[in-house]
Amino acid sequence: MTILEEALKGNITKEMLHIAEIERVDVRKIMKKISRGEVVIMKRESFKPVGIGFPLRTKINVNFGTSSSAINLNEEFKKVEIAQKYGADTLSDLSMGGDIDAIRKRILEISSVPITTVPIYQAIIEADSVSNVSEDLIFKVIEKQIKDGISSIVIHTGFSLETLNKMKGKRIMKIVSKGGSLTASVMKSNEIENPFLQNFEHILEIIKEYDIVINLGNALRSGCIHDKVDEFQLSEIKTNNKLAKMANKAGLQVILESLGGHINAKDIIKWVKLHKKLTNNRPLFVSGPLPIDVATGHDHISAAIGGAFASGFGADYICAITPAEHLCLPSLDDIKNGLIACKIAAHVGDSMKFGLNHLFNDDLELSRNRFSKNWEKQFEYCIDPIEPEKRHPVNEEICNMCGSHCALSISKNIL
Ligand code: SF4
Repeated sequence: MTILEEALKGNITKEMLHIAEIERVDVRKIMKKISRGEVVIMKRESFKPVGIGFPLRTKINVNFGTSSSAINLNEEFKKVEIAQKYGADTLSDLSMGGDIDAIRKRILEISSVPITTVPIYQAIIEADSVSNVSEDLIFKVIEKQIKDGISSIVIHTGFSLETLNKMKGKRIMKIVSKGGSLTASVMKSNEIENPFLQNFEHILEIIKEYDIVINLGNALRSGCIHDKVDEFQLSEIKTNNKLAKMANKAGLQVILESLGGHINAKDIIKWVKLHKKLTNNRPLFVSGPLPIDVATGHDHISAAIGGAFASGFGADYICAITPAEHLCLPSLDDIKNGLIACKIAAHVGDSMKFGLNHLFNDDLELSRNRFSKNWEKQFEYCIDPIEPEKRHPVNEEICNMCGSHCALSISKNIL
C-alpha cells in the first residue's frame, strides 16, 4: 500500500512516526492530514523522509543541474554537497546537458535527501527535438527516472491547447516556466493536446508502484509583476487541483507547484490564501515569489521577502532563488547565498505561521549568548554559522562596532 492508502485506512507508518518525532506534531494528526491530501511525505530508501504541508515546518528545495551550454559535472556535484551542508530539505536535478542518466545516478549516490526531476527535460534531449517527443518516450523517461530512486517528479498538466491559443498576444513574459514552455512547445509543434494532461491516469499507474510524490507544475506562473495572477494561472490552479483529487483517489500524494513567479507584494498574501482555499489546503510549493522585477543580480533577496510572506500565509515549500536568477547558471556561492536567503524566508514565514514555538529555541539561545558575549555559542545557533566568524573571531571579546560604548555591556552594568 502507498503512504496515502495507509493513512486512509488509519494506519501509522514508520515514515509518519519519523515526521511526528522530528516535527513535534501528533502522529495521528499527521496521518489525518495525509489522508486529506494536506500533508505529503517524500521518502527515499535508506534516508530520512521529509514531510511537507501544514502544520509542518516550511521546507526548502534547491535546484541545480547542467544546461545544454554549461556542463561542469564536478561543480554540479559540489552544489549538492553545499545545498545539503546548509540545510536544503530536498534537491531538484534539472540537468539538460551531458549524460543525464549518469548525472542523476551519481547525484543519488552522493546525496541523502529526496530528489525531484522534471522528466520533460530528458525526453526533449533524448528526442533531439520537441517535434519528436512521443507519449511513449515520456512514459519511458518517467519510469527510468523513478526506478533510479527519485522521490518526486514535476509534470506540467494544468493547461490545454485551447489555453495556449487564448494566451496569444497576451502577457509581457508569456510562459517563464522552462518545463511549461517545453511542454507547450511539444504541443504546438505537433498540434497535440498536453501529453501529461491527456495521459494523467496512465502516468498515475506508472508512479503507483513506486509511491513517489507528484508535483503538478505551475507552467503559467506570472513572469513579471505586471503580468499579475490572471485567468490562465487561475485555470491552471483549478485544473491541477482536479488532477490532484484524481491522484489522491488513486492513492498517490500530490504537491501543487503554483502561483508566480513574480507577484506584486500587496497581492502575495491574498493569492496564497486563495490558493489554499481553492485547493483544499493541499501542499503549496512556490518559487519566490519575487515581489519586484528590478533586483536582478540580487533576486535572492527579493525572493526571500516574497517567500517569507508566502510561507507566513500558507506556502509549505519554497524553492531557493539565487543571485544568478535570470542571468546564468548559479555558481557554488550563488547556491549557498540563495539557500541561506531562502532559509531566512522560511524561518520568518514559520514565525508568522506558528508564533514562537520550539522552532525558535535557537533564536532564544542565540540572544542569551549574544547578551553574555559568548561569541562561539552565539554563532552555533546562526542559520549560517560560518559567515559571522569571518567578521568577528570568537576569541575576541570586544566588538568594534561601538567599542567601549557597547550597549550590551552598559545595560548589563546598570540593569
Ligand atoms: S559593540 Fe555594539 S554592535 Fe557590538 S555587541 Fe556591543 S552593542 Fe552590539
